[in-house]
Amino acid sequence: MNTILEMAELKKQGRLKALIVTGCLAQRYKQEILDEIPEVDGILGTAGIDEIAEVIDRALEGQHVSRFEPLDRLPRVEAKRFVTTGGHYAFLKIAEGCDKRCTYCIIPSLRGSYRSFPMEELVAEAGNLAEQGVKELILVAQETTLYGVDLYGRKSLPELLRRLAAVDGIQWIRIQYCYPEEITDELIETIATEEKVCHYLDIPIQHASDRILKRMARKTNQEELKAMIGKLRARIPDIALRTTLISGFPGETEEDHEILCQFVDEMEFDRLGVFAYSAEEDTPAASFEYQVPQQLKEKRRDELMEIQQEVAFDKAERKVGSVVEVMIEGKVADENVFVGRTYMDAPDVDGLIFVYADAELMTGDFCRVRVTGARTMI
Ligand code: SF4
Repeated sequence: MNTILEMAELKKQGRLKALIVTGCLAQRYKQEILDEIPEVDGILGTAGIDEIAEVIDRALEGQHVSRFEPLDRLPRVEAKRFVTTGGHYAFLKIAEGCDKRCTYCIIPSLRGSYRSFPMEELVAEAGNLAEQGVKELILVAQETTLYGVDLYGRKSLPELLRRLAAVDGIQWIRIQYCYPEEITDELIETIATEEKVCHYLDIPIQHASDRILKRMARKTNQEELKAMIGKLRARIPDIALRTTLISGFPGETEEDHEILCQFVDEMEFDRLGVFAYSAEEDTPAASFEYQVPQQLKEKRRDELMEIQQEVAFDKAERKVGSVVEVMIEGKVADENVFVGRTYMDAPDVDGLIFVYADAELMTGDFCRVRVTGARTMI
């Protein structure tokens, strides 16, 4: 809301021609935005994002446009896409919506039920992105592991991975947002054997206390989570596992928190993020009893992050002396210091590698780098 208000101010000053709001916030608070911010010219829901060009044209003609397509609609995938992530990597959205009903989450009501994009369209889009210089594809959806169930009657992520791996120019394929109990043996095998698929998996587990997982309506428990993580590491020993957790979920006791702390310590995730629970209006959890005070949620979040920092630092230290493949993201200084990522690091959320090189490296170049040290950066 603050960003929209800042933009509205620019519009009042004549420094913007039109202001268009789209995404989950627009879907959820359409009326409030229209009522409270008259500078907004166009407002677009989550299922009609492919109509944005038309909405912009009309807004520039001075019309007020409001577009809210039914949530079961799948936006058309344009064959040609403008890459806004620097050119060397791009997100590939493989499905929209979600049929799970985690009690803290508003996404299913804002984005509708699970709909996969047809495989042919995704492969064509990947080809197009590769022609524009994209080398890394990051597969995203609210939930990637169920890809294809609605269209093809079976989980088809492994097949999609194989077809994307056949696209010339693509060198890394990274999978994000896997729901743990939907990970199949076929998927693990495909990650293990398809060369271009990064040995990296993002599995947001949210918690590790069975009592809290149940209150969250997650369909898994700690024993199954451990078994899945064990299986992944046994088949793909160098796999980098990322997860996200929620601290201070309603009803979380000191004992639940302890269970989670122990789990984090024991499982040694390679990458981990923690969010203090935030009550989302109109979700079941928002009206659960025993809401945890804000300060305590944040304290528990910080405790979890402290445990993880030690784990992550130990893991990084163990890399010192080894040679890793790095994709260059850019230059950080006048001297030849570059910044890049390994297969273990997704952009924005994971770690970085600083590369000292005599050569002039370009964004998107791959190079082999000897690790000489590790440090934490806040
Ligand atoms: S947390 Fe993820 S899996 Fe659960 S309802 Fe939300 S989008 Fe779906």
